[in-house]
Amino acid sequence: EGDLEVLDAASENPDEVTFLPALPVLAIVGRPNVGKSALVNRILGRREAVVEDTPGVTRDRVSYKAEWNGRRFTVVDTGGWEPDAKGIDASVAAQAEVAMDLADAVLFVVDANVGATSTDEHVVKLLRRVKKPVFLAANKVDDIRQEPNAAVLWSLGLGEPRPVSALHGRGVADLLDDILKVLPEVSRVAKDEVGGPRRVAIVGRPNVGKSSLLNKAAGEDRVVVNELAGTTRDPVDEQVEIGGKIWRFVDTAGIRRRVHLQQGADFYASLRTSAAVEKAEVAVVVIDVSQPISEQDVRIIDLVLESGRALVLAFNKWDLLDDERRRYLEREIEQDLAHVSWAPRVNISARTGRHLEKLVPALETALESWDTRIPTGKFNAFLAELVAEHPHPLRGGKQPRVLFGTQASTRPPTFVLFTTGFLDPGYRRFIQRRLREIYGFEGSPIVINMRVRE
Ligand code: GDP
Repeated sequence: EGDLEVLDAASENPDEVTFLPALPVLAIVGRPNVGKSALVNRILGRREAVVEDTPGVTRDRVSYKAEWNGRRFTVVDTGGWEPDAKGIDASVAAQAEVAMDLADAVLFVVDANVGATSTDEHVVKLLRRVKKPVFLAANKVDDIRQEPNAAVLWSLGLGEPRPVSALHGRGVADLLDDILKVLPEVSRVAKDEVGGPRRVAIVGRPNVGKSSLLNKAAGEDRVVVNELAGTTRDPVDEQVEIGGKIWRFVDTAGIRRRVHLQQGADFYASLRTSAAVEKAEVAVVVIDVSQPISEQDVRIIDLVLESGRALVLAFNKWDLLDDERRRYLEREIEQDLAHVSWAPRVNISARTGRHLEKLVPALETALESWDTRIPTGKFNAFLAELVAEHPHPLRGGKQPRVLFGTQASTRPPTFVLFTTGFLDPGYRRFIQRRLREIYGFEGSPIVINMRVRE
């Protein structure tokens, strides 16, 4: 028979999500001591004591919510600029590059009284190539007599140097007005904001017990919260209170509706799965332990990995497991799921309720890993030790070196390595394994990108 339910399921608009669009991002780039922190404080309108940039102290990238003339935006202070003896240019340039990638506009701060140093020049070279608006702030111009110091900086080729005094506020308002003129309403680079309860997708092949799990986990005291301030509830999502906390299960209509396997249903099912995973922050992949682990199970897991979402594996129908099947299952897990051995596992029965209480801590662990940020200093200490112990194998008499690394983003943790040559995939996997050994990252994929310097 024609399967209307499948068509109906597919016609629901999977784009109807209440993400908060990401605010535009302004990255502040500059050496320590040029007055970056003071300028950030000024932009944020903070009255607190100004934190001085202290040479020798590596601060990390920090972002703040700012508002100017009724418009909200994010300020990213790149921090972490302390040049080390060897890698001076690598680390400064790396921080600047990452900041540029993450921003919609860049504000480069120079100390007008000092002028441009060689480090500044190095960053300027990078900034000239950026296809985003770049503003040049000549800081510490506390009064008009110092303005000629700013004018000298025309020579950097970054356009008009804007004389400002972060300390006294001089010139900052005009500069912000101009910056806001070019910042887009919604960021073109930042990911959408996460608002409200954490979003969970329950995915898996048909009949593995997704809807049973949802019902059982939600239990009697299911609380469906309809109204969240400022957002309209997505009709296909359900907000459920479990363990004293509200979770948002995305795309539950797709779970609850019985979709019978008909022609094309596979296609719709996988479409549905990707849509749910994209909307979620963490995915629970449900696996039926009474059946052999199938290619389809693995495909669904890989889909979660490709979307960079946190992952929890729920081995369901544990009540049906006998000793023989159990032995097979262990072997299947070893063979087919070795690449996700870092994902938390819960062995549950949606029918009897066995170990369902373990689901929430597993979700929390996975999300925590997904949100983890390793400070740049720590990450580089980690890299230095790793490289010292296990240098990259020689290739054609040459050895690619890792100059510097930084975590460019979270959700999932994404690292950028600046290297002198292409790193072998095996070596990159080795770095990933080491990262997991030391930092855990249980339940989250890790991404490692490379930037090769010639
Ligand atoms: P879905 O298609 O993934 O949503 O799967 P359902 O929740 O509809 O479950 C499919 C079938 O498996 C139903 O007959 C459920 O009663 C059964 N089922 C679900 N969970 C369990 C479990 O833990 N143990 C057993 N024995 N059966 C289960």
